[in-house]
Amino acid sequence: MYRTHDCGELRLSDSNTKVTLCGWVQKSRDKGFMVWIDLRDRYGITQLIFDEQRSSKELFNKAKSIGREFVIQVKGKIIERSSKNLNIPTGEIEILVSELNILNESKTPPFTIEDDSDGGEELKMKYRYLDIRRNPIKEKLIFRHKVSSEIRNYLTKLDFIDVETPYLIKSTPEGARDFVVPSRMNSGEFYALPQSPQTFKQLLMVGGLDRYFQIVKCFRDEDLRADRQPEFTQIDCEMSFVNQEDILNTFEGLTKHLLKTIKGLDIDKFPRITYDEAISKYGSDKPDIRFGMEFGELNSVSQHKDFNVFNSAELVVGISVPGGNTFTRKEIDKYVDWVKRPQIGALGMIYVRCNEDGTFKSSVDKFYDQKDLGNWAKITNANKGDLIFILSGDKNKVRTQLSALRLELAENLNLRNPEEFAPLWVTDFPLLEWDEESKKFHAMHHPFTSPKLDQIDLLESKPEEVKANAYDLVLNGNEIGGGSIRIHDKNIQSLMLKHLGFSDEQAKEQFGFLMNAFEYGAPPHGGIALGLDRLVAILDGQESIKDYIAFPKNNSGKDVMINAPSKLGDDQLDELSLGLRIKSHE
Ligand code: ASP
Repeated sequence: MYRTHDCGELRLSDSNTKVTLCGWVQKSRDKGFMVWIDLRDRYGITQLIFDEQRSSKELFNKAKSIGREFVIQVKGKIIERSSKNLNIPTGEIEILVSELNILNESKTPPFTIEDDSDGGEELKMKYRYLDIRRNPIKEKLIFRHKVSSEIRNYLTKLDFIDVETPYLIKSTPEGARDFVVPSRMNSGEFYALPQSPQTFKQLLMVGGLDRYFQIVKCFRDEDLRADRQPEFTQIDCEMSFVNQEDILNTFEGLTKHLLKTIKGLDIDKFPRITYDEAISKYGSDKPDIRFGMEFGELNSVSQHKDFNVFNSAELVVGISVPGGNTFTRKEIDKYVDWVKRPQIGALGMIYVRCNEDGTFKSSVDKFYDQKDLGNWAKITNANKGDLIFILSGDKNKVRTQLSALRLELAENLNLRNPEEFAPLWVTDFPLLEWDEESKKFHAMHHPFTSPKLDQIDLLESKPEEVKANAYDLVLNGNEIGGGSIRIHDKNIQSLMLKHLGFSDEQAKEQFGFLMNAFEYGAPPHGGIALGLDRLVAILDGQESIKDYIAFPKNNSGKDVMINAPSKLGDDQLDELSLGLRIKSHE
């Protein structure tokens, strides 16, 4: 037997027991006549003691010779420590070692295996297996496991079955670029890695499985924004004979279950707002509602004076900053400069101070009187002591700018508490989205999403107004899931593809298999997919997803540990019929 116990479980009540332990040498302290070693495994740390009097000479010398991160096995007796460390659960005992076996030696690690390590990001990624030995990373991976097993349990109890779908598929258009894999056996042909199992899960519904889930890797070849991974994990789900209400209730149930079991929190019914409402109230389809600061639209109470900046604007919109009247002029200017940075792009910003005596002081006092400013305060819900910031201009741009400012202010005012959880549903997304580059409408969710059936007639005349039976689950300002009721009627699916600019031919080529399936009794169905990496990070109160992934890629999509991606040799390229093509591009 390699070990009788782990390094985290022994207590004072186990004294005098003979044990065998295995683990890594966290550190060793050599006092000349005594040597202490901290032995570490996944479960904790146990102190070992060797002393000149009680240990044999050979054993004592061996103990002195071992270095950090050596893998050892020890046999010995549990004894009470003379100086106890009450900060760790095993801190009242130590092992008086009688036998020491070195199972493997170790080079000195390139960074310290401590909670606060000295290693830089790149180095830690290169030696990720050593980083994983550190508590902060190890605990995050264990936390992820806890969340994913709760998800499996919950869905299994509700009769969802876990079905694996293929990774080598044909491309599914979900808006991003596909990763492709050349086929050796079918020269010149390629598979695509799934951006999601979307069409397969729909086919499983046609196959009568009724309720499907899978915790599954998905692949999207997008330019990497901070904290995005080219491969990521989704909790992918689909249900038959359901309407939107059934899906929202089921996955609200799952989210509540996670908040309860993982965080011990009871959360009431999740608020629901429509996409249009979210955009006009928060300038975002994933609003953070842990704090207020809702937008107040001021066109009707600001475009009646000689202030041309407002008069010529499509939208004049403001937010009230709680307690913001304490900001100094310098602080206000800092925010004005902040919105004028090219990343935000505002031309300027107006402010109104709401004084404690009920009067107002603004940067546009020349144009507006106290009554006007009072109206603005009412509409933006500003109270005495608050500050109102106002932006104006093109509707879409201004909302995006004010939304960014809202988050920045909330961050600075500590209103985004990571231990507070404010989920909500955003519903009624537009079906289509205009793409300036291709001058075409794209499906906002994906082409299999059902339009609101009573709006189908509008597809011809006002396509941008048609809403979809599509919804997002938003948590603390992050989209953690999205889904829709699907089209299950072949004719509607054809119509939809036509509106997305697919010729009959192209539709058949790309989606023939789905359309065929729809001719064999497809049930009404719908589903959702939640992003596991982000969900786990948010539940743990963290921003970055990287440490919840055992072997993540860096911001250029590289795995620096295994050095991927990398070049292929000529033989391999030839075998894949890629050699000539690549050479002809050189
Ligand atoms: N396949 C969709 C996605 O990955 C989710 C869904 O509609 O279920 O966003």
